[in-house]
Amino acid sequence: MPAPSAPTVPAVALDLDAARAEYQALLAEGLALDLTRGKPSGQQLDLSDALLTLVQPGEARAADGTDCRNYGGLVGLPELRAVFAELLQVPAEQLLACGNASLQVMYDVLAHAMFTTLPGGERPWAQESEVRFLCPVPGYDRHFTLAARFGVTLVPVALTGEGPDMDEVERLVAADPSIKGIWCVPKYSNPTGETYSEQTVRRLAAMPTAAPDFRLFWDNAYAVHHLTEDRVELLPVLQACAEAGHPDRAFVFGSTSKITYAGAGVAFFGSSTANLAWYSALASAQTIGPDKVNQLRHARFFPSTQSVLEHMERHRELLAPRFAAVHEVLEAELGPLGIASWTKPLGGYFVSLQVPAGCSSRVVRLAKEAGIALTPAGAAFPGGLDPQDSHIRLAPSFPSAAEVRAAMRGVAVCVRLAAAELAAQSAG
Ligand code: PMP
Repeated sequence: MPAPSAPTVPAVALDLDAARAEYQALLAEGLALDLTRGKPSGQQLDLSDALLTLVQPGEARAADGTDCRNYGGLVGLPELRAVFAELLQVPAEQLLACGNASLQVMYDVLAHAMFTTLPGGERPWAQESEVRFLCPVPGYDRHFTLAARFGVTLVPVALTGEGPDMDEVERLVAADPSIKGIWCVPKYSNPTGETYSEQTVRRLAAMPTAAPDFRLFWDNAYAVHHLTEDRVELLPVLQACAEAGHPDRAFVFGSTSKITYAGAGVAFFGSSTANLAWYSALASAQTIGPDKVNQLRHARFFPSTQSVLEHMERHRELLAPRFAAVHEVLEAELGPLGIASWTKPLGGYFVSLQVPAGCSSRVVRLAKEAGIALTPAGAAFPGGLDPQDSHIRLAPSFPSAAEVRAAMRGVAVCVRLAAAELAAQSAG
């Protein structure tokens, strides 16, 4: 599915007075709706409530007899690593089960790379005059914040519908040794919903890089988050890198945040043996081991890979109607006008809406005044700056389907008004 570009000229003339009147009526409704962040709904969280009782007194031993209440086991519980290995496409012996949040693992890995030379590297990144990361856009704002925290300069690269523009990526990484990494959300990407094609993954794995310690920050946060029966496949990146002669190129991250409890699940980190040795030596200075009791309840809740996929089906039953609501309302309210385009994702948590260039911040402001909270315009771009001011990230998971419908009708009113204002300005 190609990423939609910003529509420019309304296909149908928009009547500014009518759009204003519609908006006044929307204000009078006094809505209070929120489509800002991709949080699971309460119903989704309820699906995992067995976690709250799965470890009872006298039952805290793992399969190998380890007492999970005690220190140790930096690599995490083997039975849980085995279940998630297949889903994250990492051999179990190369997958660590970590703490409660993959973002924290990403932060740690970046911090460690700043201060300790990576396998294949010449010096810690903090000793370079500049460190740059490619960031496919629109992307995940927390990746950008995290990189900015370490003074990493972000270089935007366009997404194409099957991953980043690889001609551009290859050109940049071949020429510039300060480019040390790229942020990738390779499956059901946040926010465009796209999945990297086999060709994209192979090119990322094989491309020559000027930096000897270049890394793919492979955030597979939505590995099993299908919205249709069509389960999209991703090429296993560690294998592709090894086959291309770059076994240390990928850092794979994932978590159960949107599988069980958001922020109270289990994070995973997968990579080559050399990278894991590098990471584990540093992690052992940070902690004596992860929360194995939480890992144990997850291992009991998910006795097999199949059980995770079945659980995700129940998430899908809750999420699909909300995504359908977004699509149906946009299609009915904006489709005939030609002033907006949007993604119809096969998985993940987001819809990307493109409005006419110069309109997205206006739409978000209008929506806010009407009681509909949207992700700030530009949030999916580094520095919060969308050069076209045309992208809006919609996150329909948390409200009910009826609330999503009401919110989207309101958003459509705001898009029509902003587009009518723009058309009037250009006419005047
Ligand atoms: N990566 C991506 C792409 C995400 O969308 C999210 C959640 N919004 C996260 C990471 C956060 O994951 P965790 O809770 O494991 O830190």
